[in-house]
Amino acid sequence: MVFVSTRNKDIKKSLSEAIENGLAADGGLFVPSYFPRIDLSIFHENDTFSEFAFKLLSIFFKHDILSEYLNDFCQAAFNFPLIIKKIDSNTNCLELFHGPTLAFKDFGARFLAECLNKIADINKKKFTIIVATSGDTGSAVASAFYKKKNVDVIILFPKDKISLRQKKLLTCWDNNIFSISVNGRFDDCQSLVKSAFKHEWWTANKTLTTANSINIARMLPQMAYYAYSSLLHYRKNSSKTGFIIPSGNFGNAAGAYWAKEMGFPIREIVMPTNANKVLVDYLESGIYNPRESITTLANAMDVGKPSNLERIDNLFPRIGSLRKNVTSVSVNDEKIKETISRVYKKYKYIICPHTATGFYVRDMLPKNDWTIVATADPIKFETIVESIVEKKLEVKKHLQELLDRPCKYNEINQNMEELIKLNCKGGIKS
Ligand SMILES: *Cc1c(COP(=O)(O)O)cnc(C)c1O
Repeated sequence: MVFVSTRNKDIKKSLSEAIENGLAADGGLFVPSYFPRIDLSIFHENDTFSEFAFKLLSIFFKHDILSEYLNDFCQAAFNFPLIIKKIDSNTNCLELFHGPTLAFKDFGARFLAECLNKIADINKKKFTIIVATSGDTGSAVASAFYKKKNVDVIILFPKDKISLRQKKLLTCWDNNIFSISVNGRFDDCQSLVKSAFKHEWWTANKTLTTANSINIARMLPQMAYYAYSSLLHYRKNSSKTGFIIPSGNFGNAAGAYWAKEMGFPIREIVMPTNANKVLVDYLESGIYNPRESITTLANAMDVGKPSNLERIDNLFPRIGSLRKNVTSVSVNDEKIKETISRVYKKYKYIICPHTATGFYVRDMLPKNDWTIVATADPIKFETIVESIVEKKLEVKKHLQELLDRPCKYNEINQNMEELIKLNCKGGIKS
């Protein structure tokens, strides 16, 4: 299979090239050149998720240099469970947060880590990933790439702008992971990353790449879990489920649209957002108007310029077909708090602020079968959730182990020379 740019079908790359490049040369995002109709009989009832993902993703890896390793990648990357909880007679919750950093991003980041490390190995290269983070992405990437021998990771996070627990999860690493606290805001970290890609010292000394959600290797596992859980639901109930996917950058939900395109039994897809309502406005007015993000309780969805919308747009290029296939609702902080409280009282089920946007919209929708996606473990947002449910949340063992490790990081101002100097002091391995 070849992969093409969302902006120009004539820009074609193999899968491994698309993974290595991240972004297409014209600034577009890579998407599969087509979505083959799936033959559901290739899947068995007792396939584990990693066996299922291997069968499905083989279609996209065909003829690529990585194809012979795909089975190993799936076994290694998806070594934690995906849990479907029944909430009531027509609602399930798909918990995607049982990976090492307790959010769905573990699926994509771990799969990307396997792919990039192997690409480096085959081509006798070494990559340096540089990533700016305000929370979930950085910890998923750090954990996924930890001790991968062909890839170093530099994480820039804004000093004093993240929670203590988030900071712990970004700085509890060593070996090939370098965490740097930047005296500034998230946007300052992001602009350091952007300028590194154009800076002569970096281009002369490192092969830089990114690990953000535009990478096609992060998208493929997300398609796989929607395909898998829709098929489980179909076998059990003989009906198609709809998915409610709390969204920010729309990468997670784009995976669900791809699974639906292939013919997996998905009825419809709804994408609630927090107060950042670019998509709601776009659907209403037909005009795409990106803007600065607003800070909310569901901070991993605080995105004002959602890049993966381009992949959904690519499927439904006319506003009419977009409106027919895409539903979004904006949920403000007040409603998020109310919903966490209400869901706890009604079902004794504790949810994170992101997942709360999903439960909120379910009650506005017709009483069909719905699967609400739980994107993060509430324990990561304990400062918000504990006071609402008036209960102390239990810290699971593997999280406690990470929290108990010492914090290791360097501190710099928003200054390229300081970042480069760290390298000379041995802060960043050469
Ligand atoms: C990243 C993230 C989201 C948003 O996912 P997108 O793919 O950006 O739409 C939602 N919830 C949590 C917990 C996240 O970490």
